[in-house]
Amino acid sequence: MGERKGLKNRGYSEEDAEDRRAAVEEFAGVRFEHIGRCGMDYGCASKNIENMIGVTQVPLGFAGPVKILGEHADGDFLVPLATTEGALVASVSRGMSVITRSGGATVRVFGDAMTRAPVFRVRDLAHCVEVMEWIDRNHPAIEEAVSSTTSHGRLVRIEKFPDGRNLFVRLSFSTGDAMGMNMATIASEAVCRLIESNTGAVMVSVSGNMCSDKKPAAINVIEGRGKTVVAEVKVPRDLVSSALHATAESIAETNTRKNLVGGSMSGMLGANAHAANMAAALYIATGQDPAQVVGCSMTLTTCESLDGDLYMCVRVPAVEVGTVGGGTRLPFQKEALEMMGCYGEGKARKLAEIVAVTILAGELSTLAAQAAGQLGNAHERLAR
Ligand code: NAP
Repeated sequence: MGERKGLKNRGYSEEDAEDRRAAVEEFAGVRFEHIGRCGMDYGCASKNIENMIGVTQVPLGFAGPVKILGEHADGDFLVPLATTEGALVASVSRGMSVITRSGGATVRVFGDAMTRAPVFRVRDLAHCVEVMEWIDRNHPAIEEAVSSTTSHGRLVRIEKFPDGRNLFVRLSFSTGDAMGMNMATIASEAVCRLIESNTGAVMVSVSGNMCSDKKPAAINVIEGRGKTVVAEVKVPRDLVSSALHATAESIAETNTRKNLVGGSMSGMLGANAHAANMAAALYIATGQDPAQVVGCSMTLTTCESLDGDLYMCVRVPAVEVGTVGGGTRLPFQKEALEMMGCYGEGKARKLAEIVAVTILAGELSTLAAQAAGQLGNAHERLAR
């Protein structure tokens, strides 16, 4: 392996990628016909990947238009979805059509802060209390440490979770239009250095898992992470029957028995039919971090019959998205964001509202299909 020069090539030009690709082909004994057909300049991914040898393409479709009555997303939108799951785009589109014909989905962003929670080693409980008191007395200095690392990031909250010789400090940052994980991590390291030099506490990890990034965690369901977004729709009784071939009562019952009771019996965090499906397709299309789909997977879906009309709501606790930075600057992903008017400055909350409404559309369509006993049929027709 050490003999193959290309495997050690760390450059970002097209020639560097070709060199690596040839070395990988030789190592694996295969010939790539597709991976090297890259439709973008290799250099533009220099901040997004190492050892790049080409691209993996994921089919991209659209769902919608969907009418959204948000504070930030207000109007009719086509939503880009990248997926290999047949029937997903059709199902989300059906949900969006019903939402639009019902007058639209109302949506609001409630929390908006990215978190990092370092874990410190302290000597004992008395030292733990001392460190906590130092933090309480020194908020201005801590805020200054944050400002020294970022112009858009701002510290909005410090929570402390003591545990004998462990002290967890959950730092919450507003991060402008960036998803904010790099920003929060760099700022947190500066805060940790300040705490260490003033208290003798030792930072063991800048990420002590109380953050909690890329893992399902109750703290994120309760406190939120990134943006907490709630979206609702009221579907008139006639439309429930003509477009969804079900009744509000049957959809509400499906939601109760499947999502709420089934979710509770299985120990699920949140309760939904497949929120992660919509989030994954939208995240991949728009250059979000796909591992953070887990934040959307903890969505709580509720449903009621209001005198025969259907009320449906999703609370998405952790929509960790950005419209600057990360993968959003890559050319395909940027175009997908532009399709919704969501690229760049001032657009992150708009994107978060669209994410929640897309989840609502997918929940509506899938729960209705299950209430009408059509789920297997749709997949058989469209995906096999
Ligand atoms: P980033 O690209 O690292 O940072 C955003 C950059 O955009 C900052 O330099 C910021 O400048 C600048 N910026 C310009 N205009 C802005 C605006 N309107 N709002 C906010 N920032 C603006 O992105 P990030 O969102 O912090 O991190 C995203 C990346 O982190 C993703 O690629 C993700 O996969 C990765 N990630 C990292 C970790 C980790 O632990 N480090 C964990 C999970 C994911 P200023 O900072 O000077 O304001």
